[in-house]
Amino acid sequence: MNIVVLVKQVPAISDIKIDTKDNNLVRVGAPSMMNPVDLHAIEAALAVKDAVGDATITIMTMGTALAGEVMRDGIAVGVNQGVLVSDERMAGSDTLATGTILAKAIEKIGGADLVFTGKRSTDGDTGQIPPALAQNLGMSLLSYAESLEIDGETARITRKNHDGLETVEAPLPAVVSVMETMNTPRNPKIRGKMSAKKAVFQVLRLEDIGLDSQQAGAAGSATKVTELFAPEPHPVGIMISGDTVGQAVTKLVETLASKQLL
Ligand SMILES: Cc1cc2nc3c(=O)[nH]c(=O)nc-3n(C[C@H](O)[C@H](O)[C@H](O)COP(=O)(O)OP(=O)(O)OC[C@H]3O[C@@H](n4cnc5c(N)ncnc54)[C@H](O)[C@@H]3O)c2cc1C
Repeated sequence: MNIVVLVKQVPAISDIKIDTKDNNLVRVGAPSMMNPVDLHAIEAALAVKDAVGDATITIMTMGTALAGEVMRDGIAVGVNQGVLVSDERMAGSDTLATGTILAKAIEKIGGADLVFTGKRSTDGDTGQIPPALAQNLGMSLLSYAESLEIDGETARITRKNHDGLETVEAPLPAVVSVMETMNTPRNPKIRGKMSAKKAVFQVLRLEDIGLDSQQAGAAGSATKVTELFAPEPHPVGIMISGDTVGQAVTKLVETLASKQLL
């Protein structure tokens, strides 16, 4: 079985800076880490491998060479190999272009029976990559998975909806987006850490995956960020209470009257 896990490098800070010239995140110089939920996607892949035995797990990211470093965390816990999809012409890709590029890269390495992703990234936070991949690869999408079971050629997940938990199944191949609640990521052992340090990743550029510069970056993107701003903080509310409902209502009326709202 071929399993691909997609991971994204995200800023490791809450104070994200935006370049006002092009409305992009300032990634250069910002401390970074693996998108936290992607660790759970890796664990999901490892659990499937543990269960089926004969499986190869490939970890993949689209980003700069520095972004590729996050893949070492996957190698350290038992992922077999890494693929860095990297090309300066991919910079500025929106989710449409990213979904196209990652799908082509998966096809280039021979496709997959299962593709694992996190449910969302902490920076872009669109949750659009899993459905984009499923669409581009012609696979079923099992999104927001809280649990996963592989039963022969069928993948079955549970996920929360407004009424409770639902069980959804689809034939393989499938894309599964994973929630943090699905599992507890395992810790790397010393041997794994050593392999991670030495790992050499395959690098795929645009030509390698059969795309050109018009299908990547700003040229291949259907959307453009025209403005980014922090929302105004809500003013602090006033809590009105009293020993009885009557007292509370009296205080409420007095407060509203004092603010000339009555
Ligand atoms: C309108 C628009 C314009 C944008 N323009 C830019 C831009 O100019 N420059 C820029 O850097 N970013 C830009 N972005 C952000 C960029 O498109 C997204 O970071 C990227 O497409 C992934 O989307 P996301 O972070 O929302 O992923 P989500 O869909 O929230 O992520 C879900 C999962 O998909 C996987 N995944 C996501 N991204 C990757 C990746 N790169 N490699 C491997 N796996 C991945 C991970 O498993 C992740 O957990 C833009 C986004 C939008 C919406």
